[in-house]
Amino acid sequence: MPPSPIHLCQCPSCQRDMPHPDQDRHRQMNLLISRLDEQQRRWYAALESTRLGHGGDEQIARITGLDPKTIRRGRRELASDLRERPAERVRAPGAGRPRAEKKRPEDRSGPARSRRAGNGR
Ligand SMILES: [Zn+2]
Repeated sequence: MPPSPIHLCQCPSCQRDMPHPDQDRHRQMNLLISRLDEQQRRWYAALESTRLGHGGDEQIARITGLDPKTIRRGRRELASDLRERPAERVRAPGAGRPRAEKKRPEDRSGPARSRRAGNGR
């Protein structure tokens, strides 16, 4: 799986031509986010948003390109100590395909092979 493209911050500080201390920081935030999985992104963005306080969700959304609703959800999850997100299960059931653990490729050829074996008899 190719790494996610790094989001370019859309905040006013990063849009101007003049160098600004925020630019490096925002770029690194997005660099970090590009290496995280979905829920880790959410929690990292939530943490940054909490640090900013009021209006943080919108600010972080503009910097990271994440949905403010996603960031709010991350804040809720962090506030409840990630109890609904046990550490041993990386992802919620049915939430898509795991990235790290690759499924065995022979699973796919399984049915086809048995069908072929049936014809051979
Ligand atoms: Zn920025």
